[in-house]
Amino acid sequence: SVIIEVNDLNVYYKNNHAVKNVSIPIRERSITALIGPSGCGKSSFLRTINRMNDLIAGAKCQGEIMYDGINLLDKKIDVVALRKEIGMVFQKPNPFPKSIYENIAMPLKFSGIRGKTRINEIVEESLFQAALLEEVKDRLTQSALSLSGGQQQRLCIARALALKPKVLLLDEPTSAIDPVSSAKIEDLLLTLKKQVSLVIVTHNMQQAARIADQTAFFYEGEVVEYDDTPVMFTNP
Ligand code: ADP
Ligand code: ADP
Repeated sequence: SVIIEVNDLNVYYKNNHAVKNVSIPIRERSITALIGPSGCGKSSFLRTINRMNDLIAGAKCQGEIMYDGINLLDKKIDVVALRKEIGMVFQKPNPFPKSIYENIAMPLKFSGIRGKTRINEIVEESLFQAALLEEVKDRLTQSALSLSGGQQQRLCIARALALKPKVLLLDEPTSAIDPVSSAKIEDLLLTLKKQVSLVIVTHNMQQAARIADQTAFFYEGEVVEYDDTPVMFTNP
């Protein structure tokens, strides 16, 4: 079934019409890939879903992003709560300059979760889900910046998962990462889709073909094709 229904979405930056009349569903427990050339609106589309575009001066969004009966573009929604339910991972891993443990524990504390035992459990569980637990369990108090790029990215995924999101948005999560770690992250995403709906921007067509259930092809701000990935990649 569908978890997010985007209807007639438009994003503007001053006079630049970056996303044009986009209407696509985001399916539950599946991976939706957004592909297309650079500058065609993929990141703008992605950032609009969890209202990160609000942070860009001069950005304007119109249309509907229906989720759980509400339009996420509604000015009245609680964006802090929204960003827990709809998490985001960026191209460049951005762990806090803190310990591996605190990277996950701190957002939990901010979101009102109390009790060391409970927090420790969630830290361990999310590291496990992000396929990082074995590598870091003996060094949780070390700086997150001591990890490799690929490990940092999995830590950022763990940090998002700790808040139990329904949807995870990933903006080219492997393009700044070495091929071995990148393959590990692809495997991880295939496992995660059993519990969370994933939307991934990628420049890499092979990556979309390998992991996505549905693919949307963006061109100059429009979605010019949307289909099940196997259909998309077999029809010329
Ligand atoms: P991408 O990997 O999405 O192509 P870019 O390198 O184009 O990323 O953009 C990097 C950052 O610069 C992003 O935060 C993006 O929002 C911002 N950016 C891109 N184009 C512009 C622009 N015309 N004016 C201001 N900021 C921009
Ligand atoms: P993609 O992710 O496909 O590379 P973007 O969404 O980053 O595309 O960019 C779509 C258009 O919006 C581009 O023309 C880009 O310059 C513009 N843009 C992106 N981010 C910003 C920004 N922060 N401020 C102004 N313009 C931006």
